[in-house]
Amino acid sequence: AGKVCVVTGGALGIGRCLTHVFALQGADVAFIDLNAQAGAETERLLMQEGARTLFYAGDVAKKEELEAFTRRIEDCFGGVDFLINNACLTKGGIHSGCGWEEFDYVQRVGVVAPYYLTKLLLPLFRPGASIVNISSTRASMSQADTESYTAAKGGIAALTHGLAVSLAGRVRVNAVSPGWIDVGACHDPGYKPLYSRADKEQHPAGRVGDPDDIARAVLFLCDERNSFITGANLTIDGGMTRRMIYDGDEGWRYRP
Ligand code: NAD
Repeated sequence: AGKVCVVTGGALGIGRCLTHVFALQGADVAFIDLNAQAGAETERLLMQEGARTLFYAGDVAKKEELEAFTRRIEDCFGGVDFLINNACLTKGGIHSGCGWEEFDYVQRVGVVAPYYLTKLLLPLFRPGASIVNISSTRASMSQADTESYTAAKGGIAALTHGLAVSLAGRVRVNAVSPGWIDVGACHDPGYKPLYSRADKEQHPAGRVGDPDDIARAVLFLCDERNSFITGANLTIDGGMTRRMIYDGDEGWRYRP
């Protein structure tokens, strides 16, 4: 039978790329996104590729929307093979006016929704099912003023090993932690990246990442042959977080 893949935040960016690669593998795709217009366009592209598609326009931060999305998935597809918890956003940090509501909202999108959608889909997961949570290299290091996002990415990284243990024998649960991934092209068809040489060469891989770099890793983790991989968190960042730089290294100076 055809596989069924559920993606959150599937209208644009890495999420759109994920819907596309799963459709190319012959999967049916259900996705939820806040952006109704971009979601409808993504749905049209998927249908052109011949995938059975369900787009639900809604906010993953809302419990009722996740419940309604789950009912639609059950009605349309009956079961689920893959869940990719991808939707997230930032509302800055402690220096930029990120208050109670803003911080709380990012945690609901980035941590509460992945947990609750997993709980809702539990009865629908088929044998061999797999969850991939999209974390970030920012789960383990920070730029200043990014706490709402960083906390959510740390939360989803820990949620990954929690669920991997709780759902042992039923569903494998892994994470991918992307570094700098350029999603500009899918937000704006006329987009031209303007990287400096340093932007690229600071990465040991010599370039910035693109959504396909993440999508290939997600497919790898979902592959049933990789049944020994659960609770893992795969960093895909061109080596950026492995380069150690002290004051004076690589022509770099620390400005206190
Ligand atoms: P993006 O902003 O390009 O796309 C995110 C998509 O999620 C959009 O379609 C948006 O409408 C949707 N979305 C946001 N909030 C939502 C909500 N509350 N309910 C439903 N849909 C919602 O972002 P992206 O760069 O593709 O990021 C995707 C994932 O990858 C995120 O979890 C992000 O944290 C992670 N990530 C991205 C990068 C990067 O450099 N792009 C790096 C590390 C991690």
